[in-house]
Amino acid sequence: MVIAVDLGGTNIRAARVEKGIVSYRLDAVLHDKHLLQSTVDQVCNLISQVMDGGISGIGIGVPSIVEEATGTVCDVTNIPSWKRVPLRQILSDRFGIPVQVNNDVNCFVLGEHRYGVAKGFSNAIGLAVGTGLGGGVILNNQLYSGRNGGAGEFGLVPYLDANIETYCSGGFFSRKYGISAVEAFNLAEQGNKEAAGMWNEFGKHMGYAIQTVVYTYDPEVIVLGGSLLKAFRHFKPAMQETFSGFEFPESINRLHIFASELEHAALIGAASLVE
Ligand code: ADP
Ligand code: MG
Repeated sequence: MVIAVDLGGTNIRAARVEKGIVSYRLDAVLHDKHLLQSTVDQVCNLISQVMDGGISGIGIGVPSIVEEATGTVCDVTNIPSWKRVPLRQILSDRFGIPVQVNNDVNCFVLGEHRYGVAKGFSNAIGLAVGTGLGGGVILNNQLYSGRNGGAGEFGLVPYLDANIETYCSGGFFSRKYGISAVEAFNLAEQGNKEAAGMWNEFGKHMGYAIQTVVYTYDPEVIVLGGSLLKAFRHFKPAMQETFSGFEFPESINRLHIFASELEHAALIGAASLVE
């Protein structure tokens, strides 16, 4: 059994995980984000609370890049005090067991590849559509992290006047229409025409994001996760319409696009870093 940690900009969760099954889990709100020591202590305390005799390792996903050779976390956008934190060292010194650190969406795609809808496919891309747009890449059944865990950051690829994430995340709705994605979802569920139009527009941008992924990797499967997937049925048709212009019809026609069905893909993926 191992411990998995999912460190977000707002919440931390830690759990005991064995072979894709999350057992004991605790969540906490991250306090004092501007104080490095206090946030590190909070992470350690949460881990201590789920720690148990038979734990053989700790896997942790973080919303930033990670220097793979050292497990050093760099520039966590949503935790301003985390500029360069040698997290693997800190946790392995403290708990005396192996620790692996990787990007949170890399962990998500690992979880989906081992235990979710991407199981059995050699080449898979995960996209987490939430506050931002993160990505993770599995090539030939291996996670491809890049030197800094930064591979697959499709959200930051320049697009139109900004980048893909600006158009393919919750931020799209608040910036352009002054409502949150949840509000746009609720309106669309009630049959509101304007909201349906917003989701169509969003779907087109998602279609171009997926085309970027397919031109780059030509994967067998793309797994979509993140809270905006609750609105998948409202944006899927517009997303698929963009595919008619794709230069290589074979690769887009054969591609599987699945919505994640796992409740804790990122946690079980983080666990698999050390399992
Ligand atoms: P994070 O990116 O921080 O991990 P989420 O994946 O939960 O978190 O994404 C947060 C975004 O999801 C917000 O923009 C929020 O408006 C949006 N969201 C939450 N619930 C829904 C929903 N039911 N339908 C569409 N969007 C949603
Ligand atoms: Mg990534």
